[in-house]
Order: sequence, then structure tokens, then C-alpha cells
Amino acid sequence: MIAQSLRFPAPDRSRRPRADDLVAVLSCTVALGLAACGGGGGAVTADRIIRNGQIVTVDEDFRIAEALAYRFTPAGSEILAVGSDADVMAFQGPETEVTDLEGRVVIPGLVDSHLHFSLLGIEAEFEADLRRAMSVFDVVQGVAGLLEKRTPTAGSWLVGRGWDEYKYERPFTRWDLDAVTPDNPVQLNRVYRGLAVNTAVFELMGIRDNDPSTWPAWWLEDPEGFTLDDKIFREKRTITVNGRPREVEIPTGMFLGNAVRMVTVRPPAPAFEDQVQAVRYGTEEMTRLGVTGIVDPSGGGGVMRAYQEAYRRGWLKARMLQVFEGMWNTQTPTQIAAHFDAIPFNDLGDRWLRWRGTKWQIDGGAGTRSSWVTEPFLDWEKIEGQPNYGYHWAENDFRLAQLRQVVDRGWDVHIHSTGDLGMKQTVDLYAILMDSIKAVNPNANLRWSVIHAYLPMEPETNMLAKMAEYGIIAAVNPSFIWHQGRSFSQNLGAERMARLQPFRSYLRAGVKMAVGSDYGTSPYSPWIGLYAMLTRKDLWGTVHNAEETIGIEDALRAMTINNAYYTHAEEWNGSLEPGKVADMVVLDLQDIYELERDPERIWEVENTILLTLVDGRPSYQREGFRF
Ligand SMILES: [Zn+2]
Repeated sequence: MIAQSLRFPAPDRSRRPRADDLVAVLSCTVALGLAACGGGGGAVTADRIIRNGQIVTVDEDFRIAEALAYRFTPAGSEILAVGSDADVMAFQGPETEVTDLEGRVVIPGLVDSHLHFSLLGIEAEFEADLRRAMSVFDVVQGVAGLLEKRTPTAGSWLVGRGWDEYKYERPFTRWDLDAVTPDNPVQLNRVYRGLAVNTAVFELMGIRDNDPSTWPAWWLEDPEGFTLDDKIFREKRTITVNGRPREVEIPTGMFLGNAVRMVTVRPPAPAFEDQVQAVRYGTEEMTRLGVTGIVDPSGGGGVMRAYQEAYRRGWLKARMLQVFEGMWNTQTPTQIAAHFDAIPFNDLGDRWLRWRGTKWQIDGGAGTRSSWVTEPFLDWEKIEGQPNYGYHWAENDFRLAQLRQVVDRGWDVHIHSTGDLGMKQTVDLYAILMDSIKAVNPNANLRWSVIHAYLPMEPETNMLAKMAEYGIIAAVNPSFIWHQGRSFSQNLGAERMARLQPFRSYLRAGVKMAVGSDYGTSPYSPWIGLYAMLTRKDLWGTVHNAEETIGIEDALRAMTINNAYYTHAEEWNGSLEPGKVADMVVLDLQDIYELERDPERIWEVENTILLTLVDGRPSYQREGFRF
């Protein structure tokens, strides 16, 4: 017991109202003609009570309570009361199970507002995660580790994800990879817009280093039409042609931008059954990290079928909202209209699996120097030879005509916009569309977002006030600051980087932030995003403007209730209040403010989550934790 209290020092409660200051907030929303709402007890009993905890409600006042009671309902679950132990225990009946939290912190289930989910399970189970690799050695080790884990037969593919050449002492090459995997084709996807392969892949394409007759046209020289961010990496090597050594610059296996099209053989796409399994692995992995809700911005018919099948089998462990992404980014308004006329619904599903909204894209990213920006990317003189302002998919009038087709049919819109000009187009067009919708329907409930929303504060294009005025949501991904801080900073310059995803300025301006990992590009742990919001520190230890950090309360709001709002679910999800579903996470922590005082603690908490409840039932339960 002494060891226990040493390990868990008494929480500093001086800053916050004590749990027992709270009146029990009883469920007056429970229908059933419950007469007494203030007295607690009698009419409704709880299936579960958790007590003696630090229950971080994330309600309007960010109250912290001792206990919480909930019951199961035909629709799932319902929180009955949150408050002091004494008040909540009034909901105890003969069948009620009670858990003593021993002072631990409980938070609402985390919601990730932007996570490309469909391959997460496949990756967690079958692929190498290279996002934490900081050197050529780490990349090679990552592939070697996968080889050891999978023990693949000769010729079968090995796939990895998340490399970023900015992080290494030099770009790695296929010869580095060949040293550990001479017999298996290897495909490693960059964090964004890039691909690297080993020599076995070129061999599958019929290319032999020592036989110039097998070399494709692009082997020694770039094809026509390459733009500034398309690149084939080459290196001088000595090869043997007809028994004679010859020195030539040949591809190293690394490709950026459209150059990835040079690689014409790819690993086989996962079979449907693997996709269904992946939903189980993927949602299990997310609930291990405390995530109970996921917004997948790359939804569509194919992945939806896999999600539905997993749901039918009881394998969906977290709630899922699919945002519909299609080919319409470049389609004409007429094509888009035909497409959406064929889908007679814009909001489908139940609280576990929903389909709502559309995702679009206007520009690229800061790591690949392709955000649409007013000021060119740094070092263009050396890198591109001409000022590089990034790119954009559509001009204003065309994009406006496109968007009208979906908003007129009641769909929400979310547009990937990273550069300040990209953001400006999105925000300006949203304002025009919102004005015209609200002229007809003043109560229209529009929750449209700027996805990524890197640069809202540029001197020329400052859009904070306009976003706040129109209620446009900044769907930010703080983890980029952590894992790509260096490349972003090199490309944008430290001065502009200081304003990238300005968390505090967003809050101060009254812009709602919905936080997501952008897994697919970023690592999927939501705790990285929390760390980045509290510190703005990157993997190399550089802090990108401490003025723009926020505290634990606002960060948690952004990860829970704001994301629930983003998905039109705040009435029933996103905080621990009577009437809402019992989605919550028990942390091995005694005081939530400790994460603010010492953000490095986040990495312990991330890996020691004790329990994740979705609809009141454990989707994840740590071994040894009694519930
Ligand atoms: Zn994304």
C-alpha cells in the first residue's frame, strides 16, 4: 500500500473543484417517466458504477467527478449519473456491478477525426512501421524486423510505410535493403507521395542492372513532363556490362511524386477477408490506445462493405464514421451531380457505423513542398530553380460549381487544404455556399471543415476571423509537428513554421478545432497529437513556438467533444454526462493535470491504458486490470 501511494502521489486538486463539491448530475433526460430527478435512486438502477476515481467529464465546466453510473439500453448504453460517490451509489441495485478505480483518471473515449483506417489493421499485422525511423540503419532494421516476424517465403512481398528521407543522414537505397532482403520484393511507402523499392522489385519488372537492353527509358534520364516535386533518385555505381566495368548513374529505388508511376509491379491488394480481419485488428489496436471513435476520410463502397461485414461479425471494436471520398476532385459538376443522384442518402447507419459527408482536396503538403502558398517554399533557388508556390487542383469558379452539387444534396464538405492560399480558397467558397444555404434555411446545421488547416494566419490571407464567423472547423493534425517538424520547418522556414497549426490562436479566435492523427501519413496514436498540442516539440527536440501550445483541458476537448460535434454526435457522445453513451477510458494516472505539468508522462500513459469501454463494454482491457 505504501508502494502504491509512492507510485501514485496525491493529485494536486488545489486548482480544480473537488469531486465532492459537485452535485450529482442525475439523468433527467432519462425518459421512462422518472419522477424524482434530484433524489437519485429508486426508479432506475445502474448496470455498472465506477467509483473512487477522477472522472474527467469534459463537460462545459470541465468538472472532475468521483463516480459514474450507467446502464445498458437497447440502443447501446446510457450514462445515468456523474458526481460524488455518495450520490452516484444511490443508483446501485442488487444487480449493479461496482468497480473501485482507486483514484485513477477516467476520460471520455477519444475520437480521431481523421484516420485513413482501411489498411491500419493490415499494417499493424503485416507491415513494417517506419515512422519512427531516424536513420538509414533504422529503416533497414525495420525491414529486417518484419522479415523476422513474417518469415515470408521467397518471392512474397514485404511492405513498409512511413519513411521520410529528411530524417536520415542520406536517402536510403535499394542496396541498403538488398543486404537484408535479397529474395523478397520490398515496397516501402513514404509518409506522403513517395515509394522506395529494392532490387528484387526491378527484377520482377524485368530490369537487370548489368544488362542495358532491359533498362526502361527512364532509367538514366527523367521522362518528359516531370514537375518540381517528381523525382527519381540516382546514384553513381559501377556495373559490369559484357564483362567490362562501367560507371553510370542508376536509380536507387527511391521515387517521389508522380515518379512512383515508374514502378509498375506492386504487392497484391488485400483480399476481402483480409480487409474484414483488418477492421478487427485495427479497431483493437485503436482501443488499446483509448480511441473509441474513428472518422475515416477515405470511405467508399469497397471499404464500407468490409466494415459492415466486420460489424456483422461483432469485430468492430470502435465506432466508425466514413466520410465519402471519390474521384470527384477533378470531375465536372455534371459528373458529380450524376454521381450523387445515384446515392439517395447523405447520412446512413447507426451509432457504430455511419456514413456521412464528402472529402475533397485542394493542394499537397508542406513536407513535399506542394502546399498552395503565398510565399514560395524556402530554398527554391537550390531545389526547384524557380519560385515554388505548390499546386492546386481547381480554380475558384470550377470548385464552387463542383461543391454546389454536393451541398445542394445535403452533404457536408471537408477539404484538404494545407497552404494559406489553399485554405483561403476553401474558406472563401464555404462562406459563399453557407450564405446561400442560410438565406433559404437559417437553421442549417453546417459542420464543414478545413482538413489539416496549417496556415490560417499568413499576413496576406489571415482567415481566423472568417473561420470563426462561419463556424468553419479546423480539422488539425498536431502529430505532424512532432514527426515532420524538421522537414516542414526546412521547407517553410522557422518563422512560418511558428504559425503552422496555431492551436492557441485558433482557440482565441473562437475557431473550433477537431483533432485527428491523419494516420496513413502520420502514426495513429492519439497521444502523439496530445503531446504536440501541449508542447509543439518535434522528434528532434525543437519546439516550434511555445506560444501556440494549449493546455490539457482544451487539448482534451479537441480530442473528444469537438470531434463528436464534428461528426454530429455531440448530443450522445464526446463527454461523460447523463444521457450520453458510456464510452470512456481508464488511465493508469491519478491526476490528469500531471500530463500538462510533465508532458513526457504521456508516453507512459499511452502504453499503460487499463480499460477502454465502448457502449459500456470493454473493447480493450489490460491484463491484470480488474473490471
Ligand atoms: Zn488524410
